[in-house]
Parts: sequence; structure tokens; C-alpha cells
Amino acid sequence: MKDLQFDTKAIREGYQTTNEQEHSEAIFLTSSFKFDSAEQAAARFAKKEPGNIYARFTNPTVDAFERKLAALEGAQACVATASGMAAIFATIMALVKSGEHIVASRNMFGTSIVLLNTIVSKFDIAISYVDLSDVSQWENAVQDNTKLFLLETPSNPLGQVVDITALSKISRVTDILLAVDNALLSPALQTPIKLGVDIVIHSATKYIDGQGRCLAGAVLGSEEIIEKVAGFTRATGPSLSAFNAWIVLKGLDTLSLRMKAHCENALKVATWLENQPQVTKVHYLGLDSHPHHQLAKTQQSGFGGIVSFEVKGGKVAAFKLINATKIFSITANLGDTKSTITHPATTTHGRLSDEEKTNANITDGLIRLSIGLEDTDDLTADIKI
Ligand SMILES: *Cc1c(COP(=O)(O)O)cnc(C)c1O
Repeated sequence: MKDLQFDTKAIREGYQTTNEQEHSEAIFLTSSFKFDSAEQAAARFAKKEPGNIYARFTNPTVDAFERKLAALEGAQACVATASGMAAIFATIMALVKSGEHIVASRNMFGTSIVLLNTIVSKFDIAISYVDLSDVSQWENAVQDNTKLFLLETPSNPLGQVVDITALSKISRVTDILLAVDNALLSPALQTPIKLGVDIVIHSATKYIDGQGRCLAGAVLGSEEIIEKVAGFTRATGPSLSAFNAWIVLKGLDTLSLRMKAHCENALKVATWLENQPQVTKVHYLGLDSHPHHQLAKTQQSGFGGIVSFEVKGGKVAAFKLINATKIFSITANLGDTKSTITHPATTTHGRLSDEEKTNANITDGLIRLSIGLEDTDDLTADIKI
């Protein structure tokens, strides 16, 4: 289905109807698969015959999700995982060896930093952190043993962006793998592989499910890379369940419609916030006032649903505003149809030291919104400033 447009692939790619002629994709809730004969079992195990063996390796519902997401990201291959964190860990473990080095963005999801500092570091893998947007910092951090560049663009919660094409040129020259966590935009708004990235990572828990129902993740890239990552997940077990695969597979059907609505709603709320006197700053990539607005336009087709803003009065004022909301859910999840509200300094970024918070611009008055699909007049009325 190579020549089809995104929306057609999002609906039609990936699934092979069974002999039952079901119209909607079936959920294959089975841990193992039968063989016709001992000979066939032997042939499957010896990889002489393609086909299912055991759900830690493959499952038809999971395969359908992997094929569809690969088509949407423009990747040769995909392996699904039980969560976004499992996807990041599998990528690192499969592709980086002891004694090697990773350069990572400082502005990543909190648990990604925890994973690097407390678990990956145990394997004698060194990590250097750089500011996401400053390409020269990435270049300067390269060592002889550097194997991987790891980042998210745009960053959460402030929407900083890196020039993906510029970074991919450096990674090619230096023979370093470039991995981008694309959870915040999804392939409906950004396809990093088309900009020269080697590996795309997803927390499908976010916009791909889009309705806050389950955890799921994925790693995408060339056949060669994904074979290595799948080798890791097969042997260690963070495989995606068929049921959760079905949820995110059906999520992909409506992904681009939902992303358009998230972007529209987020822009409306951000524009409204910019006009509130008690708001000292609004961080939304879709606003002209955002320093990375122009760069984002060159590599994204939309600006996503995350809006952050700073209120006068620091933590006291921020908590008061958060507690006064009736529609927004006070929860750290994002990418849901339901709008959510959080105070990054005491939750998602609570583990950072005061100095790290200052460097990352996570102020006490900062509030993060993940704008959902409710009516924006109701949302702005819910923000009592
Ligand atoms: C949520 C998130 C993750 C982790 O994903 P889980 O599915 O919760 O394990 C990783 N990266 C980003 C950007 C995220 O937002």
C-alpha cells in the first residue's frame, strides 16, 4: 500500500482478515500457536517456515499494529513493546554495549533520565547530557565510543525543538545511531525517519491510544535494527499484549483526526492564555512568540496538544489554579481526549535539583496542560486566573 496517503494507511494497513471474514480486526488472545505436525514445529523453530510460535515472539494482532505504525512512520520495520519505557530500554540494550557512550537530551521525559542514570549506567554505559536545541553541543559531546544520540523533539513541557536534519547529518558522519522519541507528536504530525533519523521510539500510551486506556510502546527503524531490538524483547519479555495491541491499533484509525483537533484546541487555549494579565509566559510551539516556532514549522505539520504557562505568584498561585479546575483532570498523563493539568516542578520534574529546574526553566509558577478534545470555551472558563 505504498502509494496511499496517511489517512488511508491509518485505516487500511496492517491487518489480514482471517477465514472468518471479520470486518473489524480480531484480538488473538492466545499465548501459543499450534502446529500441524512435529515437522512443522521443527521448521518454525528453525526459522525455515514463517509463522507464529509463541506470543512473546509474534501475535497477529500485535503484528497488525506493528505493520500499520511502520507504514505511518515510513519505517521498514517495527517491534511493539509493553510500554514506552520498555521501548526505550530495549533500544538501548539491543544497540549499545558496555564501554560505549550515549549522548542524550537533558530535556527528556523524567523516567527516561532515571532509566539512563540508575539502570543503563549499571552496564558500564556512559551518558552525557546536552541541551536539546543546541546542535553544537551534540557535536562537541561525541567521543570515539559514542553509539547513540537519544532525544525527544519537541520537549515536554516547554516545547523546545532540535533541527532533526542537522543532527542527522552529524550522526551519519560520525556513524552514531540517532533515536527520536516521537510520542508527543505521533506520525500524524512528524515523521523523523523521513528527516534522516535511524530509530523512532513511541510511548503509544499517549496519543496513539489517545484515550488513556492502556500502556503500549514501539520501536521503529530498518529491518536490521529492529531485528536486534526484537531479539532483546523476545528474550527478556516486555512484549505487547494482544488486547493492548488491539486498543492502539484501533487508536491509529482516528489518530490524524484527533491530532488535528488537539492542535486546534491547544492553539485556542494558548492564544487565550496569552491575553490573560496574570499569565507571565505561555509556552506553545504554535504561537509566533515561541522561539522555536519557525524551526518547528519546517519539520512538523502541527504543534501538538501540550501547552504550558506561568502564573504570577509561584507555587501557591499555581496550586490554587489547579485545585479550582473542575473539568481538567489533575493527572500526569497526556495525549488523552480528556484535558489534564499538572504542576511540573512538584510532579514530573520533582526529582530535579533546584539548579536543574532553573536550568530547564521549570519554575514554581509553571503549569502544564495537555489539551484534550473538550470544547475550548469550557476549558478556558475552567482556568480561573
Ligand atoms: C510517557 C512517555 C514515555 C514513557 O511511556 P510509558 O508508556 O508510560 O512507559 C516516554 N517518552 C515520552 C515522551 C512520554 O511522554
